Amino acid sequence: TKAYLAAMEAARALNAYIVETPEKALAMAAASDESIARGEQRPLEGVPIGVKDLFATEGVHTQAASHVLDGFKPPYESTVTANLWQDGAVMLGKLNMDEFAMGSSNETSYYGPVVNPWKREGSNLELVPGGSSGGSAAAVAAHICAGATATDTGGSIRQPAAFTGTVGIKPTYGRCSRWGTVAFASSLDQAGPIARTVRDAAILLKSMASVDEKDTTSVDLPVGDYEGAVGRSVKGLRIGIPKEYRIDGMPAEIEALWQQGIDWLKDAGAEIVDITLPHTKYALPAYYIVAPAEASSNLARYDGVRYGLRVPGDDIVSLYENTRAAGFGAEVKRRILIGTYVLSAGYYDAYYVRAQKVRTLIKRDFDLAFEAGVDAILTPATPSAAFGLKEMALASPVEMYLNDVFTVTVNMAGLPGIAVPAGLGAGGLPLGLQLIGRPFGEETLFSLSEVIE
Ligand code: GLN
Repeated sequence: TKAYLAAMEAARALNAYIVETPEKALAMAAASDESIARGEQRPLEGVPIGVKDLFATEGVHTQAASHVLDGFKPPYESTVTANLWQDGAVMLGKLNMDEFAMGSSNETSYYGPVVNPWKREGSNLELVPGGSSGGSAAAVAAHICAGATATDTGGSIRQPAAFTGTVGIKPTYGRCSRWGTVAFASSLDQAGPIARTVRDAAILLKSMASVDEKDTTSVDLPVGDYEGAVGRSVKGLRIGIPKEYRIDGMPAEIEALWQQGIDWLKDAGAEIVDITLPHTKYALPAYYIVAPAEASSNLARYDGVRYGLRVPGDDIVSLYENTRAAGFGAEVKRRILIGTYVLSAGYYDAYYVRAQKVRTLIKRDFDLAFEAGVDAILTPATPSAAFGLKEMALASPVEMYLNDVFTVTVNMAGLPGIAVPAGLGAGGLPLGLQLIGRPFGEETLFSLSEVIE
């Protein structure tokens, strides 16, 4: 823990942590020492962890990287982090992220962007770590935590993992409790770990996952033997390759990476089959209706009365208006406006209901592939390697949204998806592949990922 605290101080230029909690960390580490001295070693005894700022941590600032939650210290702990502490993990601090987890580059944070510890060979240009869990991914890549919690609504665990050469898994919807996690789009949000290796990710997920009476969408199924699945043979597993993911303008290095992943899995004895997921092209537009709709509803609670920032006004309505005007950043406001629009009378059927129908079709595509005997699906994790800070922000928001083209389908269908580092592309930057599993097929994903890693 002391070594990590020193490394955090030395790496402050990355802006990965919003809040550091050294005193808490040292106290937790001391408790771990005592536990070991008593001969009681818990599964994560003394392992120093960074926590995405979206998870409520009792008595510790939890601001979702938003000005509107300025100074908010929850009087409760999220179930996911409580599970980690119960297993002996140590909290190092709160990690930077896109504001309310809305973004793909960590540039929407009120606390400024996170810098990716990777650089293009021969270049000093600062790169984004991806988002929204950019702080989690950068911190793991830079060795300023041993592992991190993250969340994924449309790719926010997998895309930053791919951009930083780390492993990130979004488990099946319902595998982790959402209780105490600041809500973005409740029907899509899932917690998961970002870690250095497939094995570390397996160990962390095992601890984070649980059924929870405080979240009725958490699922009462035994948590799998994820660590045991690492290294298990993949012989005879059927891996689907969906042709719809071969999108126009995909860089040659991504295409080559995908082929390399296919070859590795084939060499390990897996069977490769071509599949079709015909509604894939509607996933991104449908996501950008469903997610903002749910966000506009979830974010209505930040009114200046109950949490964080309060900007006074002449009356209660102007207090709301002033607080929300000052408290939310541009991307969050854009989402609230889109969401309110698609839910409004006259547009609800045309947009929201239609997007939900598309969602059902996307889910059905996957169901059919799994019913036909496919065990997992292999795709690229992202359409490119990490890009430069400010490079995309200058482009239209839609260009930024295109980063999620390979990841949002998984959230729409509630399936598990893992991003695994698969090699280096141009300029020596890490590239990731994605494996998508059957519902609660996390063990299979860990076995397959270890082949690629
Ligand atoms: N980039 C996507 C968005 O901005 C996904 C975010 C996420 O998964 N939290 O909505």
